[in-house]
Amino acid sequence: MSFETRLFINGEYVESSSGEYLTIRNPTDDTLVSDKIHAASEVDVDNAVAAAKAAFPKWRDTAGHKRAAIMLKFADLLEKNVDMLASLESRAMGQPISLAKRMILGPAALWRYYAGYAGKVSGESFPPDEDGTYKIVQYEPLGVCAGISAWNGTHVLSAWKIAPAMATGNTFILKSSEKSPLGVAAYGNLLNEAGFPPGVVNIIAGGGKVGALLAYHMQIAKIAFTGSAAAGRKVMEAAAKSNLKHVSLELGGKSPALIFDDADLENAVEHSSTSFLRNSGQICFAASRVLVQEGIAPKFIEAIKTAFEKAADKMGDPSLETTAFGPLADQAQFERVMGFLNDGKAAGLQYLTGGARKGDKGTFVLPTVILNPDVKAKVYTDEIFGPVISIKTFKDEAEAIELANNTTYGLGASLYTADVARALRVASKLEAGTVGINSAFATSPQTPFGGHKQSGIGRESGPEGLKEYLQPKTIHINMNVGKK
Ligand code: NAD
Repeated sequence: MSFETRLFINGEYVESSSGEYLTIRNPTDDTLVSDKIHAASEVDVDNAVAAAKAAFPKWRDTAGHKRAAIMLKFADLLEKNVDMLASLESRAMGQPISLAKRMILGPAALWRYYAGYAGKVSGESFPPDEDGTYKIVQYEPLGVCAGISAWNGTHVLSAWKIAPAMATGNTFILKSSEKSPLGVAAYGNLLNEAGFPPGVVNIIAGGGKVGALLAYHMQIAKIAFTGSAAAGRKVMEAAAKSNLKHVSLELGGKSPALIFDDADLENAVEHSSTSFLRNSGQICFAASRVLVQEGIAPKFIEAIKTAFEKAADKMGDPSLETTAFGPLADQAQFERVMGFLNDGKAAGLQYLTGGARKGDKGTFVLPTVILNPDVKAKVYTDEIFGPVISIKTFKDEAEAIELANNTTYGLGASLYTADVARALRVASKLEAGTVGINSAFATSPQTPFGGHKQSGIGRESGPEGLKEYLQPKTIHINMNVGKK
């Protein structure tokens, strides 16, 4: 299967002027996928910015219904090309094909959601009172915006950024992750077919160096970043040191799941195993700290061990429709996760099940359960971003909330109980941007997604996501001028 490896700038595929390439190996068997993925240079970044800047005035002034029609067509094309896009994603970072398809159909729905907003962003007006001033507030696009993506759900992360920017009349440059550039590199032809004018959306590839070029760029009005807290900090610093561009950050998490004695055990186990292990645990809001009330703990621990062992049987070649769980994204991610597990073992932590899968060339880590780590253990405090949960027990609601909030992160949380009043009471006290009750959290186009504390700044998705691409302008009119 041939695929696009070039940059998409000003409506055309172009070769990188850097002569630098990214290499992608298939994490399933370490075979080479490509060592010729064009990485953008400073000149390429400048060209993309210039194209987006030139395209901005016309795109901003294009009637909302026309922009919506283009966005809707693009959503249709995502759906039509779902097999090709999913296969590229799966080859690059090992996502099971069935999940990869869902993670393209979800973004298609998000594009449609935001298409509905094109041309419908209204403002406010205040007729004059005794001050004799007529006041208007209008909401305007920012101009050239850029997105920097992580690799674990490229199409979702891209849609969260590009679609609201399009609905509000901005133009865009997306930098894909160096681990998963293949799927979005194919967007160029689809963007053209949908009818986006040249320069409105540009897609470039490259590593942190290219991300930094965007973050420091003087002509970019906003950066929407998804990735680690460490790189997010650098993006904010770059914005401060350059043109004080707007910044939104979607960062990591160490999300808790709270399971109370009265919870539906089967449901809590299902969400703490199958839902958690989706994408091999490489989901930013996956609940990796499982806190279980003492009464239900013995049964829960036994059931989760069985569920994790069964999940290991469904791990395999991600290109097969029957595979539920694939390898980790690449060798570096494998080494990162195994580093945590080996350190934990050396520190005497108790592992119920899991570890590296032996006897293959892929980056497979078996679903792993760690029992009762110390609250200061690295496996418990740090984001592992793999198929690893830590289980701790608690006595009562107060202790559960204290344990849950004892983290610098605040991206997600979930809680399981039959008591509705308790569910809402606890949800209000959890320091997290998203909470799932009796379910692992799942995103929706209608609701905002983002973090409290050090999990991020700003929101993507929902009406809140739209506001990230708008700036208010206040216009005051003196109604008394010339009045006799
Ligand atoms: P990463 O920080 O290594 O890389 C993310 C992106 O930032 C990549 O495109 C990379 O090239 C770029 N980058 C790296 N250094 C940069 C710099 N100095 N300036 C500008 N760009 C730079 O993260 P990753 O390994 O790709 O992704 C995993 C992380 O992403 C995890 O922490 C995960 O929780 C987080 N994540 C968060 C969300 C969310 O919505 N909150 C979603 C997915 C992933």
